[in-house]
Amino acid sequence: MKLNGKVALVTGASRGIGAAIASKLASLGCDVAINYAGNIQKAEETLNSVKAYGVNAQIYQANVANYEEVEAMTKQIIKDFGHLDIIINNAGITSDNLMMRMDQDSFDSVIDVNLKGTWNVCKSITRPILKQRSGVIINLSSVVGINGNVGQVNYAASKAGVIGLTKSLAKEFASRNIRVNAVAPGYVKSDMTAKLSEEITEKVLENIPLGQLGEVEDIANAVAFLVSDEARYITGQVLVVDGGMAI
Ligand code: NDP
Repeated sequence: MKLNGKVALVTGASRGIGAAIASKLASLGCDVAINYAGNIQKAEETLNSVKAYGVNAQIYQANVANYEEVEAMTKQIIKDFGHLDIIINNAGITSDNLMMRMDQDSFDSVIDVNLKGTWNVCKSITRPILKQRSGVIINLSSVVGINGNVGQVNYAASKAGVIGLTKSLAKEFASRNIRVNAVAPGYVKSDMTAKLSEEITEKVLENIPLGQLGEVEDIANAVAFLVSDEARYITGQVLVVDGGMAI
């Protein structure tokens, strides 16, 4: 697999899965635009890891939930790198609570970042990517978006929405040689899951046939395959990477 000459945008690449995706793509020769929300120190760490592969890279602060910020970012990336071939909508948040206790802000903020944020990025690059007549988009969903989960009505709705968006966009963009797929991780070790109690983690582990939690690299490897030419005939799909948890 080689991605030399390609330029990728990875949203939420300062930490966790996004940082691993940025490094994996760089290891395949891809130039990388690293987006982050607020953690500049972590974004710079990703930048250093990516640059160690000898590719071009830059960091871009933008809140994906804000369309104006997203549009300014993608315009700047295209100006800086000349083109944009691979878009990874990875930025995401949780705000878990039982329905009884979940407030409106909690619902709105998760939808705004996870679902509207994905739409914002896709919308902002629609014109240039259609004109280019080539490109690949990967949206991070979750097994929770497929099966639902107690305490995650907001998150599950956002990630199910991402799947609908992915399939619709795959149909719209296919005639222009642009593939759109989703990756649905199970339980992956990151800051997002570090918030969960030991008890919950133990319970999750009991339900994973492969007997271990996922590593960020497991998701990055799946993404790398889907963006490569080896996946040229795959579009509109949801690749579940969960150690068998959702079987
Ligand atoms: P982390 O919490 O470890 O990292 C989240 C990343 O998203 C950070 O880089 C953060 O930036 C960025 N981010 C958050 N909000 C925004 C925003 N408004 N605009 C731009 N960037 C933002 O998450 P994970 O790495 O665990 O998750 C990555 C993706 O994978 C998410 O979409 C998540 O829902 C999905 N996923 C994760 C699973 C898991 O088990 N970990 C399971 C299933 C899906 P900053 O550092 O600046 O705050």
